[in-house]
Amino acid sequence: MTDPREARQARLRERLRAESLAGLLVTHQPNIRYLTGFTGSSGAVLVLPGETILVTDFRYETQAPDEVGHHARVEIVRADLWERVARFASRTRGEGWGFESESTTVATARKLADQGLPGLRPVGGLVEDLRVRKSQGEVDAIRAAADLAADAFAATVPAVRPGASEAEIAAVLEGELRRRGSEWHPFPTIVASGPRSALPHANTGRRVVRPNEGVLLDFGAQVDGYCADLTRVVVAGTADDRLRMVFELVRDAQAQALEGLRAGLTGKEGDALARSLIEQRGFGEAFGHSLGHGLGLEVHEAPRVSRTNEKPLPEDSVVTVEPGVYLPGWGGIRLEDDVRLTAQGAELLSRRQIGLIQP
Ligand code: ZN
Ligand code: ZN
Repeated sequence: MTDPREARQARLRERLRAESLAGLLVTHQPNIRYLTGFTGSSGAVLVLPGETILVTDFRYETQAPDEVGHHARVEIVRADLWERVARFASRTRGEGWGFESESTTVATARKLADQGLPGLRPVGGLVEDLRVRKSQGEVDAIRAAADLAADAFAATVPAVRPGASEAEIAAVLEGELRRRGSEWHPFPTIVASGPRSALPHANTGRRVVRPNEGVLLDFGAQVDGYCADLTRVVVAGTADDRLRMVFELVRDAQAQALEGLRAGLTGKEGDALARSLIEQRGFGEAFGHSLGHGLGLEVHEAPRVSRTNEKPLPEDSVVTVEPGVYLPGWGGIRLEDDVRLTAQGAELLSRRQIGLIQP
């Protein structure tokens, strides 16, 4: 079997030909990892018609060749990275050099232009477009991350009790994630208790959980670079009627979305699957964010399952399904799971939360 990196580079070269580009300078780290396997935080990849070159610094002298194998030529620089990059690029025949506009700083673009690269032009999303459709191997990694995250969460539930602070609960959860092999936390763990859970992106704070409050935990895990993103709700005691009602609404909205979601629907149509139920019950205003986002080497990537995305959701993309209802001053409920989209439907990659968890 050919290495996926070879196939990815070949598909990218097709795109470059279609865009009349002699080459592409890749600076966005997840794109570098996708094309070469290199996980270092400093470096750039040149994709030329007949060759792929990773330029990085001396700190990665051992790691870079280990990780990329023969899937890219590794060049270690001790002086200016961009000067060397431009030197390699200028040897390529043909006009038209693309650089990634979203990850290349203005200062770097200026440096490259100063080196006299012909026809330098900003391009966006070329590698990201390739990353949208996941291979079985990529889906397996996301599923492994989701399993790991679910296990870590289960081990954390007993720590969600009155008297514990959000930060203490987050520390337990992050410890469990790391112990089980999560490479890193792909985003800052959210533990939001009581009224603070009404903030969809609350920071974990010092607030101490009170009896019978809802506690929202939004957390990720990373396996082989691939992210899972889950949100769960725990009640530190006994749920009152309101908490139960809002939980059941969000759970039913998520179920409706999981039932109807499939590749080929637009992002807007996908979003409406959950939103329609929440609106019907009179909580439309309380669901302020979109239903989901793509998931892969990054925790937020294409495609968006949102009211503003009129494009069809691609087959084999992986997205989150995360409806929420937030009531200022009271609290919020969000449930988040990860799915692969096919023409037939949404394949669940994580284990759903069906009932309220009361440790
Ligand atoms: Zn999340
Ligand atoms: Zn998310």
